Amino acid sequence: MEESRSRELFERAKRVMPGGVNSPVRACARVGRVPRFIVRAAGSRIWDADGNEYIDYVCSWGPAILGHAHPEVVEAVREAALDGLTYGAPTEREVEMAELVRELVPSMEVSRMVCSGTEAVMSAVRAARGFTGRDDVVKFDGCYHGHSDGMLVRAGSGALTQAEPDSAGVPADFARHTLVAPYNDAEAVERLFAANPGRIAAVIVEPVAANAGVVLPKPGFLAALRSITERNGALLIFDEVITGFRLALGGAQGLFAVKPDLTTLGKIVGGGMPAAVYGGREDVMRKVAPDGPVYQAGTLAGNPLATAAGLATLRILKRDTGIYARLAEKGARIAEAVRRAAGERAEVAQIGSLLGISFAGDAEAVYREWYSHLLERGIYVAPSRFEAMFVSDAHGEEDVERTCRAMEEFF
Ligand SMILES: *Cc1c(COP(=O)(O)O)cnc(C)c1O
Repeated sequence: MEESRSRELFERAKRVMPGGVNSPVRACARVGRVPRFIVRAAGSRIWDADGNEYIDYVCSWGPAILGHAHPEVVEAVREAALDGLTYGAPTEREVEMAELVRELVPSMEVSRMVCSGTEAVMSAVRAARGFTGRDDVVKFDGCYHGHSDGMLVRAGSGALTQAEPDSAGVPADFARHTLVAPYNDAEAVERLFAANPGRIAAVIVEPVAANAGVVLPKPGFLAALRSITERNGALLIFDEVITGFRLALGGAQGLFAVKPDLTTLGKIVGGGMPAAVYGGREDVMRKVAPDGPVYQAGTLAGNPLATAAGLATLRILKRDTGIYARLAEKGARIAEAVRRAAGERAEVAQIGSLLGISFAGDAEAVYREWYSHLLERGIYVAPSRFEAMFVSDAHGEEDVERTCRAMEEFF
């Protein structure tokens, strides 16, 4: 497989950018391959700088649920661009976005647009702290909530200890306001509340954990978080940056029928452009400036192009009533093919169009082989075993067939 052009670009990039990339996972360090420099994408396919074509299951880490360069989304962006790229003033599209978000995700009574999932989480946590007047936040081991200081933490050594920074540059003083519990362990959360009375502002959770493989919530886990937070005067934040509009139109909260106080959306909500949203209970969101004392702002927040792309995407998802069934059917077919072929050698977690495959034995080494095997056959999956596989509406019969065959062949 030709990769000289990507290699050349990577060498150039490494001289002027950390790791040669603008987001660490893209460097493909874990899989030991030269990262593909992408020149074009359409539908289910992407093309790299050497002219190789791939069936894409990274889908930009989730946003491309309709496939790449969906004509309606591209047209919405093109139309918006002709009227100017940014104004720093309100537009009708932003009102439409907040109204549509509320219609599709009813717990999001009042919302605000920001530019990334990181920013949405950081802002939701600040709103929760401002509303409750408390400083501590509970997160779960293995859940990723973007790279704001307080979220870049890992569990401390002892049970019930405060978290430690998981990145250089995060002051221990910030990390100590984050408490970490194991995912799917509501009792641990109960204990954290007991040990820190009146101090916990919020519990934040990925309702389906999709940044450490794919881990489904145990039955009753999310409902338990709902009741624990309610009983303790804390807020429940669902980080639906991946699951929002991915698992269902109403997100994981619709699917599991648990209503959080605040929700963060990203990825799909921007339709491939940098947009994200946080929002929820009106009384909490009224604390945000200029209605209230919680400051949060953004020069490019609600950017016309990003909002147009997001709106076009959400409108297609809303209109196309068969889309989630189609996505789930394809997800299930790939999952089934891997399960059958792998036997004991791999475990597959799948919910709708979200798949996580974990290998027995030396998981890291097997994943590296898996990645190269698929890459060489024109199938592009995440270059890290902790990342999910995303199926899009553009993946056709032939794509799924070819993918299943390549995966079966691996085993
Ligand atoms: C991707 C992701 C984020 C961060 O979003 P960015 O747009 O990358 O800042 C936050 N939470 C979850 C659950 C994510 O998957």
